[in-house]
Amino acid sequence: MSHFWSDIVDKLTPYVPGEQPVLARPVKLNTNENPYAPSPRVAEAIRRELGETGDTLRKYPDPTARALRTTIARHCGLKAEQVFMGNGSDEVLAHVFQALLKHDKPIRFPDVTYSFYPVYAQLFGVAFQAVPLNADFGIDVDDYRAPNGGVLLPNPNAPTGRALPLAEIEILLEANPDSVVVIDEAYVDFGAESAVALIDKHPNLLVVQTLSKARSLAGMRVGFALGHEALIEALTRVKDSFNSYPLDRLAQVAAIAAVEDDDWFRESCAKVIASREHLTTQLLALGFEVVPSAANFVFARHPAHDAATLAARLKEKEIFVRHFKLPRIEQHLRITVGNDCECNALIAGLRALM
Ligand code: PMP
Repeated sequence: MSHFWSDIVDKLTPYVPGEQPVLARPVKLNTNENPYAPSPRVAEAIRRELGETGDTLRKYPDPTARALRTTIARHCGLKAEQVFMGNGSDEVLAHVFQALLKHDKPIRFPDVTYSFYPVYAQLFGVAFQAVPLNADFGIDVDDYRAPNGGVLLPNPNAPTGRALPLAEIEILLEANPDSVVVIDEAYVDFGAESAVALIDKHPNLLVVQTLSKARSLAGMRVGFALGHEALIEALTRVKDSFNSYPLDRLAQVAAIAAVEDDDWFRESCAKVIASREHLTTQLLALGFEVVPSAANFVFARHPAHDAATLAARLKEKEIFVRHFKLPRIEQHLRITVGNDCECNALIAGLRALM
């Protein structure tokens, strides 16, 4: 603490991102990255944009990312005016807090969820109520009927991996006609139903997605929001009061190439899903309890082994998984679905420890 700090900075408890170890070949199953290289069209598009000399980098990128928004809109059956782009969906979510969730009444999100939400709430002075998940880590949409300043849910939820069916999301939207309902679909492509189809019917729905997971572009930082034009305009007003150029030139062309490659997308999602099912079977065989996952990670606990100790012992073997020292989940590990070699290394590592 320094007397130069503002009061708000003094009181913040910042989000702690998963470790990015500086090791030659870590088994890195701690930040839900995709184990496969992105579509080969991505590197081609970046090379094309750079050309021989990188001359295009002299100039600022398109502040509105028009070509990328048009590509995403076409892909989702929406208009470009219904798409907002940000530097990763974390940045999109930050703007959502400022633009759409900061009202008099507290917003509601699950007690076990993406741990960035309470951090943004604190940063932007947004009051919130954490609504307990049920005993199976499921979300009961009837718990979101109380008056609120907005509702925010990941689907599938993180770090549990559990998905809500679309019919439940629709109940949530109908129960909250006067607040914005934000569905964070970071992991939707690995087995949940997207709420994008409900956008034209529900002006209070905002869907947030990312290219970090199913498109394997975590390193490019590209996220977006989809919704009614009025919601998108609110986000654009905040963006243009903060940073007009959140997406650089390379990110814009890379993202277009990634979104256009449907074959790569389908194949890699199918591989991750198959590996997730195999990993789940192996963890169950080792005595773990595994929450049914619709994401690219599994959430598991062992009745006889302390989760923090397991994570620390795996780390000694250069195998990284995520452990959250938080109420209700401190005996769980969140394990990203890796490629076959990484999943086998994890299982061998756990077997050796148990
Ligand atoms: N939402 C959820 C639920 C996440 O787990 C993550 C990844 N940590 C994000 C959003 C943000 O992802 P990105 O900023 O890479 O788009």
